[in-house]
Order: sequence, then C-alpha cells, then structure tokens
Amino acid sequence: MYILLVYTKMEDVYDATLVCNKCNVETTKSYVIKDGFKIRIWACPRCKKKWYHPKDMEDYNEFRKLKKRDFEVKLRPVGNSWAISIPKEIIQFENVHETKVIRMCMDEPGKLNIYFRKIRKVY
Ligand SMILES: [Zn+2]
Repeated sequence: MYILLVYTKMEDVYDATLVCNKCNVETTKSYVIKDGFKIRIWACPRCKKKWYHPKDMEDYNEFRKLKKRDFEVKLRPVGNSWAISIPKEIIQFENVHETKVIRMCMDEPGKLNIYFRKIRKVY
C-alpha cells in the first residue's frame, strides 16, 4: 500500500517517512481521535488517504474488545472498607504492575468511576 522511504530509527515505525504510492507525494504525520483514543496517522495531503499507526490500532482494538465485555466481580468487606477485584485483563490493559493510588468518584447513584491514570485531555 505504501513505500517506506526513510527509517531514522528502528524503534518506532512512526519515525518512517511514507510516500503515497498513488500520488507519489510524501505523507504528513497527524492523528485522529476514536473513542478518546489518539491514533497516529500518516495522511496524504493530495488524496487524503490515511494510514493508521499499527501499534496504536492494536491498542485501540484491544480497548474495543474490553469495552464490549461485562465483568461480574465480587464486592467484599476488607476491614473498614470494601474491596472489589478488578479483572486482570483491565489491569494489563492499564499497565498496572504494582500497588498504586488511583482516583474514584461517584458518577451517579449506583455508578462508580475509577481513574487508572490522569485524565487525558483530548484536544
Ligand atoms: Zn495520495
């Protein structure tokens, strides 16, 4: 679909400069927002074709799969508080590796929000 022109670093394919094979024009780097996800893209300034960053798309698709799931977890007393078990799929997705302090707040009666990370602003 596209021609890899320059590889400045091997760590990230996004460092590569892509040329639209249809227009023979260098693409520009940009991003799109999907469900709050920032996905890096290469875009052809002429035909407007977009190429999504493969790693960002992988993360996005993983999130989509998680979002469709409905987990049933146990709420149980632990000392003076109550604890729930967060499914490991969510913990892995949120990249949690150790005990940490996270934020939670009551959204509406019967609904609780948990923030694993600082809220990312979608510009
Ligand atoms: Zn093009």
